[in-house]
Amino acid sequence: VHPPPIQRLVTELGKLPGIGARTAQRLAFHILRSDDADALGLADAIREVKSQIGLCEVCFNLADGPRCRMCQDERRDGALICVVEEPQDVIPIERTHEFRGRYHVLGGALSPIDGVDPDDLKIAELLVRVEEGEVREVVLATNPTTTGEATALHIGEALRQRAPEVAVTRLASGLPVGADLEYADEVTLGKALAGRRAL
Ligand SMILES: [Zn+2]
Repeated sequence: VHPPPIQRLVTELGKLPGIGARTAQRLAFHILRSDDADALGLADAIREVKSQIGLCEVCFNLADGPRCRMCQDERRDGALICVVEEPQDVIPIERTHEFRGRYHVLGGALSPIDGVDPDDLKIAELLVRVEEGEVREVVLATNPTTTGEATALHIGEALRQRAPEVAVTRLASGLPVGADLEYADEVTLGKALAGRRAL
């Protein structure tokens, strides 16, 4: 139907989450109508984010250098580590203003059905970090889903064996079960953080 360059744009936009074929087409025509500065600005922003953003060498959060902003911030408590599944889970926790420690981003959750094993996540790196650093407490803030709970239990067990002196806590209940952390409102999440309990 479309000339190949337009079809290509529609196809690429259609790969984005939540974008169906009709929306992809509408966006493609919007981009075509936009002036060059706006349209090429979008293309440049995508190119820049892909070339400049990588993972923090300490916590595996997103970073535009070797270390993320949280790992560089000397005012944050390095003895307190909050473990999350994905980089986007850091944002709602930061928004609560309840947490002044550092993070550790696993890169997913354990899910044998989907072929996600402990080796696929940054679990070994977390254990080394806890063993080598002066860590007082690890807060397991994986999602309140089946895979998130399984991941928290697995890490809790590994920490008990490798670093028994470190407190391991889990977010208090009250979060919507089955939902991802990123959809939790900050008041509920703040309460869950403040009321965290031993795992
Ligand atoms: Zn970091």
